[in-house]
Amino acid sequence: MNEREEYLAYWKARKQENKPNYYLRGEEELERIRTEFTDRKPRILMHACCAVCAGWPVTYLRDFFDITLYYGNSNIWPESEYERRLNELKRLIHEAWDDTVELVIPPYDNPSFTEMLAPRKDDPEGWKRCFLCYEKRMDDAYAYASEHQFDYFTTVMTISRQKDSQKLNEIGAQLSEKYPGVRYFYSDFKKKDGQLRRNEIMAQYDLYNQNYCGCIFSLRNNEKAQ
Ligand code: SF4
Repeated sequence: MNEREEYLAYWKARKQENKPNYYLRGEEELERIRTEFTDRKPRILMHACCAVCAGWPVTYLRDFFDITLYYGNSNIWPESEYERRLNELKRLIHEAWDDTVELVIPPYDNPSFTEMLAPRKDDPEGWKRCFLCYEKRMDDAYAYASEHQFDYFTTVMTISRQKDSQKLNEIGAQLSEKYPGVRYFYSDFKKKDGQLRRNEIMAQYDLYNQNYCGCIFSLRNNEKAQ
């Protein structure tokens, strides 16, 4: 099977298979939290790619968790775009949540990240380059959660229709074995009107909504398509 056939077979199987409902798994975890954490809210580290994608997941989970956002996105190029998305996230934390949500900003290292992705630069979006990108960002964030004794880890990226939520949750499950002290919170934030709420929050705070995913390769593809 060549690469193109493998890609098509992957997506065909994804559409046909009986997919786990990660939204429901998250809801079940919230039920467990209600009975298990009676004297405090559990601490969760949420990897956040941008303000638009963080808005609804934070709003949805704030009653259950003490939330810290982790803006680890060295995939984003150029640096001015990385800063723009970061500043919008800071503004949302201030305007929507009165600065009650913590924000961790690890060092930005786009050259190393781009070098890691470069062998897959010609992949279509949603294929192996993106799987590498999801895994690297989630792994770095999960390691931070483990080092800082968080109870849970998750990523807001499952809210995006452009991202492979099944893959994101599979990566999260694998990483939970690597970092067994931190539970993975399964999610599909776009479900149950999550997408609608995302758009409402974006409009309410007039958030900048980027027109490409983030890496230099997605920017070039976007420019070619225009
Ligand atoms: S398209 Fe998006 S998810 Fe895929 S590699 Fe680029 S930045 Fe990462």
